[in-house]
Amino acid sequence: MTLRELKAGQSCRVESVGGEGALRQHFLDMGIIPGAEITIVKFAPMGDPVEVRIHGYELSLRLDDAEQIAVTEIDKKAEDTADEKRRDKASVAHPNLGEPGIHHDKKHENPLPDDHVLSFALVGNQNSGKTTLFNRLTGSNQHVGNFPGVTVDRKDGAIIGHPNTVITDLPGIYSMSPYSKEEIVSRDFVLDNKPDAIINIVDSTNIERNLYLTMQLLETDRPVVVALNMMDELTGNGGSVDINLMEQILGVPVVPISAAKNQGIGELISHAIHIAKYCEKPVEQDFCAADSPVHSSIHAVEHLIEEKAKSTGLPLRFAACKALEGDELILNQLDLDDNEKDLLEHIRVKVGKKSGLDPAAAVADMRFSYIMQLVKECVTKPVRNKERIRSERVDRVLTGKFSAIPLFIVIMGLVFFLTFNVIGAGLQTLLEMGIEALTELTEKALTAANVNDVIHSLIIDGIFEGVGSVLSFLPIVVVMFFFLSLLEDSGYIARIAFFMDKILRKIGLSGRSIVPLLIGFGCTVPAVMSTRTLPSDRDRKMTIILTPFMSCTAKLPIYAFFIGAFFPKHGWLIMIGLYVFSIIVGILIAFVYKKVLFKGEAAPFVMELPNYRLPSLRSTLQLMWEKAKDFLQKAFSVILIATVAVWFLQSFDTRFNLVTDSSTSIMALISGFIAPVMKPLGLGDWRITTSLISGFMAKESVVSVLEVLFGAEGGISAVLGTVEAATLLIFSLLYTPCVAAIASVKRELGWKWSAALVVWQCVLAWIVSFIFRLIVLACTGGLV
Ligand code: GDP
Ligand code: MG
Repeated sequence: MTLRELKAGQSCRVESVGGEGALRQHFLDMGIIPGAEITIVKFAPMGDPVEVRIHGYELSLRLDDAEQIAVTEIDKKAEDTADEKRRDKASVAHPNLGEPGIHHDKKHENPLPDDHVLSFALVGNQNSGKTTLFNRLTGSNQHVGNFPGVTVDRKDGAIIGHPNTVITDLPGIYSMSPYSKEEIVSRDFVLDNKPDAIINIVDSTNIERNLYLTMQLLETDRPVVVALNMMDELTGNGGSVDINLMEQILGVPVVPISAAKNQGIGELISHAIHIAKYCEKPVEQDFCAADSPVHSSIHAVEHLIEEKAKSTGLPLRFAACKALEGDELILNQLDLDDNEKDLLEHIRVKVGKKSGLDPAAAVADMRFSYIMQLVKECVTKPVRNKERIRSERVDRVLTGKFSAIPLFIVIMGLVFFLTFNVIGAGLQTLLEMGIEALTELTEKALTAANVNDVIHSLIIDGIFEGVGSVLSFLPIVVVMFFFLSLLEDSGYIARIAFFMDKILRKIGLSGRSIVPLLIGFGCTVPAVMSTRTLPSDRDRKMTIILTPFMSCTAKLPIYAFFIGAFFPKHGWLIMIGLYVFSIIVGILIAFVYKKVLFKGEAAPFVMELPNYRLPSLRSTLQLMWEKAKDFLQKAFSVILIATVAVWFLQSFDTRFNLVTDSSTSIMALISGFIAPVMKPLGLGDWRITTSLISGFMAKESVVSVLEVLFGAEGGISAVLGTVEAATLLIFSLLYTPCVAAIASVKRELGWKWSAALVVWQCVLAWIVSFIFRLIVLACTGGLV
């Protein structure tokens, strides 16, 4: 039978894993190997995907993929003893098991010079606490950038108190067989950059799956220190780890820590610096039982590829295991000749025959057998896991059959309500008052100092009016990101992906795409960047060109401005209406994309569902600070330049004389060319066109430019009616994303896609606005 046929609560043992390529390797890496035990936890509210428990953690996969996994049902009670027996059988002494770790031989010590900058890579599974640890290690002296050539966020920083160090936070990975673009970044960083040491963060509450990556990191022949995280949770539940024994078995230092509670960090730092300085490589790299077929095969492959590995700079043991697995990337890099390829194939066939598994499964099995043995010897698992039980309780409601979707809507509604009506809006009012007071003070000072009229106008009508109006939206943006990061850190977004998968599949995407789309409501730039986590290229492209349809926070000032001027009584309603409208348009567009651009199926959906956790306040605050910094930088660079440029163009005529009536200015002249195009929408005024053009620089500057051009809010209502105002709202909802967003799309998909996106969204915005205006006018009798 297959995994698909089981009911909730039933358990089974894996017989074989079908499928092929990266997905199959991913299955194996996540621990779905022949012999592993799987329990069905629950089905998503709409029946698909299914949540299963394997190796003590939760994984979600689609029924279609579950069909690839052949299983035999087992009786849970009989299973326990069978499991014991299996383990007993596996506990034949490993050749090097228990050999004391010789971390560093004093006699031959050869430390790196003192002025050498020690580089560290922070590597671990997703949700193992990397970001939390990184923030602990670096404090606030960190630097955010991109990895060269790709747009994945790269965070570097020096360890507190050790200025001569640089530590890099890498995207989370489950194994060194990359599945998504982001994972490739992590693997390449470890293999190519050769950091002086690897800090491998391991979630101690989920130790089997986390150690799977550790095994592979040890093979890369870099100094490794294992940071055993979440120890507070493990010990809190009555579990424990024999650290000394684990250190001996693994042959590298192991440090128990709690990143969230700031425990063990000092010790981790001193170990990390020590192994890096003295180049203490792992003592152990050979993890297979001496008599196993995998053991001899890996050695045979090692001999076969020894020279090629040396010349390409790949660590030998690592390359041998990967070659045996059949990893394309490594095989290409090794560039074996035909003779060597034949020999390798011969070895692969032999290991398959002897072990009864295919080579990739045999290697995965070797690693997991070793891990089981290690865990049996050094880890006492908690009998009851409080966090797991709590998670299950919460999940019964949040992903319940009937409650999941309604609660999702309520939660998102609450987030928007709190952001736009309560917290964000409250803070905004405060900030606005501050800015106003400051403007008045400056105005008085300027008048008192008898400053030249042009400069006076530049400072007050240009800079203060423009930048000030944008600055007041800082609180809303920050609060929005605060909520999004809460949802993400707590583990809820993974659940949203779980129960939305079936719906997203209908429009041709997988549940994973929900993350970038939700972030898109914050800002398109990080949303586009976060698509890097999507394993399929097709899904990634489609998600990227859909995210600009999610209304970003930068458009909020536009909405707020027009709602304030035209619809003050129904603001809250119109705000929701705009968001709903953008989602509907997004869905329709997705259908079009699916039919025209991206035929075929969405990628398989295999995702971990972590326990719910209280997000750490520190990390959240740090994120808010970063977002605030981004926003301020933007306000004082792009937006400042845009407003000053617009102020200049509208204050002078073509002979650079100061104009009294801005309709004779340079700006009026330029916009006059484009204005006729906007005339059918009722938006033919040159000032409106100008503001929309400047919105291409940054959406916030639409408002700042309108303020500069029209003065107070009253000015604009003389030019626009309510219908036109509504049309303008729809137009700005849909038309081209800002330069920053386009730049990030260009980095992901190239300039052709991004240029096409600009044109396409402008055309679409025009058509939709036009139809909207026609309908409204027809309904209200405005046409006749
Ligand atoms: P990343 O995905 O690896 O970057 O993991 P994060 O740093 O975002 O952490 C994931 C979750 O685990 C967050 O909610 C953290 O607050 C939480 N967390 C991290 N370290 C610890 C720890 O030592 N103990 C506990 N109880 N929670 C932690
Ligand atoms: Mg993280």
